[in-house]
Amino acid sequence: MNRPRAALPSLPMDPLDGFRDECGIFGIADSEDAANIAYLGLYALQHRGQESAGIATLDGETVRVEREMGYVADVFDEARLSRLPGRTAIGHVRYSTAGASLLANAQPIVFATGRGPLALAHNGNLVNARDIRRELEASGALFTTTSDSEVILHLVARSKAPDVGSALAEALLEVRGAYSILVLARDGIYAARDPNGIRPLSLGVREGAPVVASETCAFDLIGARFERDVDPGEIVRLSREGFSSRRFAFSRSTPCIFEHVYFSRPDSRVFGKSVAASREAFGARLAREQPAEADVVVPVPDSGLYAALGYSRESGIPFALGLVRNHYVGRTFIEPKQAIRHFGVKVKLNPVREVVDDKRIVLVDDSIVRGTTSQKIVRMLRESGAREIHVRVSSPPTVASCHYGIDTPTRRELIASNQSVEEIREFIGADSLGYLSAEGMYEAFGRPAQATCAACFTGVYPVEIPEEELEKEGAVAR
Ligand code: SF4
Repeated sequence: MNRPRAALPSLPMDPLDGFRDECGIFGIADSEDAANIAYLGLYALQHRGQESAGIATLDGETVRVEREMGYVADVFDEARLSRLPGRTAIGHVRYSTAGASLLANAQPIVFATGRGPLALAHNGNLVNARDIRRELEASGALFTTTSDSEVILHLVARSKAPDVGSALAEALLEVRGAYSILVLARDGIYAARDPNGIRPLSLGVREGAPVVASETCAFDLIGARFERDVDPGEIVRLSREGFSSRRFAFSRSTPCIFEHVYFSRPDSRVFGKSVAASREAFGARLAREQPAEADVVVPVPDSGLYAALGYSRESGIPFALGLVRNHYVGRTFIEPKQAIRHFGVKVKLNPVREVVDDKRIVLVDDSIVRGTTSQKIVRMLRESGAREIHVRVSSPPTVASCHYGIDTPTRRELIASNQSVEEIREFIGADSLGYLSAEGMYEAFGRPAQATCAACFTGVYPVEIPEEELEKEGAVAR
């Protein structure tokens, strides 16, 4: 049954109504063709950041770097890779989360220090970077970027510790927040994760050479074997001798559950678990918690695919690909001069009329952020003949922003932060709307609430956020 819809606000053209990706990092030590392999590793991590790409290599005593705005395949060609000699390389793909979208902020960042040149690649966000930067600037430090990551290099450069590993350990005790980082130095690559292990970082081996990457899908592409994750609060040095490890802090592991809901590739193992399996488990649990009378289960591709499979399997309702995604959409497209209905979302998604016509549909998505994309998809499906649309979301309502390296709207822009489930249902124009519960999500993930970051669903941040940051988005802690 179609219910009356709420008055609709004007819709923005931006088709991206989701949490945007963050950054991906990759490193390989003591290998032939290090820059080329880093290029392939970054290629596999492209989904984690499409704004800029960069690779730094160690050639004898010299660190060289090539960085540019754009996709990995556009930034690097053979000529550019040939300017990166050396057997050790780190790379970075970026979507800016702190610091403006500028070439100067592209990583790896390279610094000349008394310990030789250092290059840094960072995934995450430092919640106290602003304070540290103010102190460093007051004592004469000159920053070359507006990125939060640069403070780590300044702290390493200023440390009196005898070696890079000890200096890095000291620096990391000063910063707070989420960080998986790689530091390229003359004696190898230092890979570290914050004490909460919020962002992923995995170790592997390729033809005897140690490798490190944000996600294991990068290992699959280069033919590397997964070894283990870098532990929260651990620094691992990758060198000709293999891996050597040291702890710099006690860990209290709270990995980001959104990596499994949305960010990571389903063919990756992240935090020791298959992302595809997590998504199927979220979908199956959703089917038990939020059943629906329907003819087909349709995913919002791509991130809703595995949750929809889980929903279909658990409910017995057939799975059907009723929406097709255009995978070739670049970062920008030219808006047509004449208005075309639902143009923004149609650039990315289009219904398959033969699948949805006259059907009662369970539409499975991973999350609803502002609600505008869901609204357009529901409208498109109705215009293609869908009889009923029951939206099911494989995570709880998104009520808070991320301060740990995911680019999210401010809290007040998140539809679930100020509207009830019924109000959201009305806004998106669905016949029914159901979310996975927080308890259901933790159970399906296999980790309790206190051992997970789910702050965007709960507003409970495992690493304290400075009041100044919360005030900016109108979410002062009470
Ligand atoms: Fe992940 Fe959300 Fe926590 Fe950010 S706030 S780290 S997106 S779970």
